[in-house]
Amino acid sequence: VNQSYWLKHYPEVIPETIAYEKRSLDSFLVESAEQFPKKKAIHFMGKDMTFGDVYSQAKKLAAYFQSLGLEKGDRVAVMLPNSPQAVISYYGALLAGGIVVQTNPLYKERELEYQLMDSGATFIVCLDVLLPRVSKVRGNTELKHTIVTEIKSYLPFPKNLVYPFIQKKEYNMVVNPESSEDIHIWQSIMENGHEHYTPVDIDPQDDVALLQYTGGTTGHPKGVMLTHYNLVSNVQMCRNWLYKTETGNETVLGVLPFFHVYGMTTVMNLSVMYGFKMILMPKFDAEDVLKTIQKQKPTLFPGAPTIYIGLLSHPDLKKYDLSSIQACISGSAPLPVEVQEQFENVTNGRVVEGYGLTESSPVTHANLVWEHRVNGSIGLPWPDTLAKIVLETGDEAPVGETGELAVKGPQIMKGYWNNEEETNHVLKDGWLFTGDVGYMDEDGYFYIVDRKKDLIIAGGYNIYPREVEEVLYEHEAVQEAVIAGVPDPYRGETVKAYVVLKAGHQVDDKDLNTFCRNNLAAFKVPRVYEFRDELPKTAVGKILRRQLIDEDKKQQPNF
Ligand code: AMP
Repeated sequence: VNQSYWLKHYPEVIPETIAYEKRSLDSFLVESAEQFPKKKAIHFMGKDMTFGDVYSQAKKLAAYFQSLGLEKGDRVAVMLPNSPQAVISYYGALLAGGIVVQTNPLYKERELEYQLMDSGATFIVCLDVLLPRVSKVRGNTELKHTIVTEIKSYLPFPKNLVYPFIQKKEYNMVVNPESSEDIHIWQSIMENGHEHYTPVDIDPQDDVALLQYTGGTTGHPKGVMLTHYNLVSNVQMCRNWLYKTETGNETVLGVLPFFHVYGMTTVMNLSVMYGFKMILMPKFDAEDVLKTIQKQKPTLFPGAPTIYIGLLSHPDLKKYDLSSIQACISGSAPLPVEVQEQFENVTNGRVVEGYGLTESSPVTHANLVWEHRVNGSIGLPWPDTLAKIVLETGDEAPVGETGELAVKGPQIMKGYWNNEEETNHVLKDGWLFTGDVGYMDEDGYFYIVDRKKDLIIAGGYNIYPREVEEVLYEHEAVQEAVIAGVPDPYRGETVKAYVVLKAGHQVDDKDLNTFCRNNLAAFKVPRVYEFRDELPKTAVGKILRRQLIDEDKKQQPNF
């Protein structure tokens, strides 16, 4: 076990252990609203909201949820792009005693239905244009109430900024939802509602605040149960890591989506807990981000390699002043050193790589922002986070030897929702087995070299082959299909389908593409199709995905 390394090398900078607050996450919104009632909490499309406003609206929503019968532990799905409503819904649900279920607004019906069914969500908050999607599946779920917020509040933003969350035909529909017994209009709750919700007793170490869906190591989507304590402790670690920044005095750029755990912790919860202002962007658009940085002057910018690459490749990059940025943490995928250096040159800030996963709230490792860092490494384990490399034999690997990374600490999930088997598969004696392969050097820095799990990360989005394969198998012409991540210079990896067609059937990549688009969120749809007569298999008939990936790698040796 590599004990946290901070103390040994940087005792004056970051403590090895932090006194974690045993409080509910939402109690921090109450505190920030008391401490900084008039301070700007959110900037969104040219408008600001103060901490007082955010708290007041979250209270109204909490009171409304309770008036509809929400009880402690009920699940509330939040299906929104980054917006004030996303923050208010998340905290409103927590204030009322609910468990938030984050739902990607890109989900098509089948993905949405699965998540709602599995979580047993009885409430959902969504955009009005997403209502047709919700209405189609609600009969198969336990949903009782839908709270609808208007797309109008996203305008006059250019259409293309919201568009990825919405299908064209949904856009063109006249959407004017009427309130009914089970449909409730956000605007009217905020205009006519009251703030008197009933506070709920929370046991922060046991009570779940969030179900965050992920494929984990096996690819089957499941809800990660993160307690209030898990979430609060990870933000406290983050705050210590950013020790040079000032509470109440930083501005964080919120390009990462909050419906993913990474943006949720490093932008939304960090800002709410420490009185930072967050600038919300519903979608990544390079030009828009550059303009926003110049105008809003964020100091902190959590991102992913594709985001930094996207900005660096903008033809007018040099015209923008990005000098306000002091610190960027890059996670989700390996950060190429050239990208790190080039982005530091244009911002005058520091860009460091970190690592984490949904099951750990998410951050477990990072390089130090303002001190020594090791390029190509995911950095050191965070305070109170133990990390080890485990060999196939189950023994701990010696320094420099490769094995599976396992982590332990206050940010590690309680388990998977209703899934003891999968929980026992990854959680052993408090150690989370990450499914990532790496090693530790003699200074205690960790490196990720491979993935045991089938996960594909394309442009910062996670794609689990099994889910895409299941859709392809539903196509009448497909006999066999296997999905793999193949190298892509911009997205890091891209989704490729290897397909064997049934005898007598003829389809091309366009047909399969349309079929996938109708059944999967766009980011999961294969970009490349290869038709084969057969697929390589093991003696027991398991398709050798690895072999296909290796064949592709051989053709592109620089990967
Ligand atoms: P998620 O659960 O969506 O946060 O995805 C977590 C996965 O992203 C990890 O298990 C890794 O496979 C991958 N990941 C995160 N950060 C890095 C990094 N810095 N380098 C390589 N892979 C990473």
